[in-house]
Amino acid sequence: MIPIDADTATDLSMRALNLVNSGIIVLDAHHNIVLWNGWMVPRSARAAARVRERSLFEVFPELRGSRVEAAILGALADGTSTAIPQTESRAPFPLREAGSFDGPRIEQAITVTPFRDGEQRFCMIEIRDVSGTVEREKRLLDHAESLRARSYVDGLTGIANRRYFDVALDRELRRAQRAKGELSLLLIDIDSFKAYNDHFGHQQGDTCLTTVAQALAAKLKRPADVAARYGGEEFAAVLPDTSLEQARLHANAIREHVAALALPHAPAAHWPMVTLSIGVASFDRARLREVPALIEAADKALYAAKRGGRNRVVVDGDTPAA
Ligand code: GH3
Ligand code: MG
Ligand code: MG
Repeated sequence: MIPIDADTATDLSMRALNLVNSGIIVLDAHHNIVLWNGWMVPRSARAAARVRERSLFEVFPELRGSRVEAAILGALADGTSTAIPQTESRAPFPLREAGSFDGPRIEQAITVTPFRDGEQRFCMIEIRDVSGTVEREKRLLDHAESLRARSYVDGLTGIANRRYFDVALDRELRRAQRAKGELSLLLIDIDSFKAYNDHFGHQQGDTCLTTVAQALAAKLKRPADVAARYGGEEFAAVLPDTSLEQARLHANAIREHVAALALPHAPAAHWPMVTLSIGVASFDRARLREVPALIEAADKALYAAKRGGRNRVVVDGDTPAA
């Protein structure tokens, strides 16, 4: 082995430092830059000779007041080491991919480590590029979010599905119980839909279901209102802060809106156009406190609307038609 003298070893250390795949900056006690490795050069667009012996805060004034400044002051004054993960401070140094002057900043994980040389204090700042990890994490989160969103959407009509309805009704009912608020439920069923399918075919039946679902969703204006496909040709609407009488008005507006679309119905149907029967019930502290009771009351009202001739709204508690 060829012996290596101290000067050669120092030279080799410097060369190795310039090959490290992260940014290394060393500051003296006055925040002046004494070392700026090769990784920093293309990403900051600043040669080592241009920054050496200048204050880091003069080179990058925006670091003033940042987590990085606090870490540097802590390292030089008290000898504390600090790790600043990307999640805490995304990109404090204005560093970009080599050669990209206006691209996005590199996402950074930073450590600040103090050390001494005799009486002199220094601190080393290491900057790692974690953009790849952040990008991957973001893609995973986006994917999970879209799966979650899709699992609450009815595949045919594009409105909320039964699963979402169950969650929303439960949540809104508990909110009404806590806040002594009002809450109404609409159960909506397309009239004579079997006849529609028999006459026009299942595929056109699907198109009709989608048209009705979109018309229903369009009539519910408040952000907290939920229109959902309850199953088959049945829909449901959850209306928070809505009294029984207000819900009756909403239900009639929906019914009239769909009838006014004048979608031609099958000859065997009760009405010449596609129509809805709607049953309405409201949260009632004494009688309809829980989800099953509320659904049952709305379902009974819906059944009464069917018996009463269809294309109508019946509200829980209405005296049954003679
Ligand atoms: P009523 O007025 O009493 O509600 O009569 P109806 O014919 O609408 O009621 P019924 O429950 O007898 O029939 C419902 C029909 O809805 C039968 C079923 O084939 C149809 N249906 C349910 N889901 C879908 C669907 O996703 N697509 C299509 N095209 N039809 C469906
Ligand atoms: Mg039905
Ligand atoms: Mg029906």
